[in-house]
Amino acid sequence: MSDDIKQRLRNKIGSVDMHECGDNLAIALCTYLSDDPRRPENDAETENGWGTWVEEQCNAALDRAVAAVYPEIEALEARVAELYRDNQRAAKIIDAARAEAEALRERLTSAHRIIASYHKGRCYACGWPLAESQENGCIPGDCSFRPSDRDSAHGEWYARMKEVDAAREGGE
Ligand SMILES: [Zn+2]
Repeated sequence: MSDDIKQRLRNKIGSVDMHECGDNLAIALCTYLSDDPRRPENDAETENGWGTWVEEQCNAALDRAVAAVYPEIEALEARVAELYRDNQRAAKIIDAARAEAEALRERLTSAHRIIASYHKGRCYACGWPLAESQENGCIPGDCSFRPSDRDSAHGEWYARMKEVDAAREGGE
């Protein structure tokens, strides 16, 4: 434990009131220790009016109180850190699930558009009416348009073909 926390805890414990309107624990300890038979005869008085030995013993007793409760604080800190890590892990899982759901939604929307186009008898990629067979024109999943990549229509056509491919791969 850091000295700063140790000091703060010692002060907290020492300032606990012994009763509703009276001395706190540190004063009670100093009062008790002032009459301790082990107190040295020449115990020098401090600026607080207590003996040096008395204050040392009082601080040592408060430090022992801090040391006694500190494992509980450390256990709580460890628990909080563990909960934080669990929370981070859960957040990652939720984010991944959201991204997966979003990707699935996009694929379903795309599949709906493709199916709707075939229902209307139209090639999804180029929009021409579907043919009876591959030799005569476009059939679902195979567009006969195939514009050159220098053709201005190529970009959109290619994207739609990719969409059809993705929908087919998703179904297999
Ligand atoms: Zn087509």
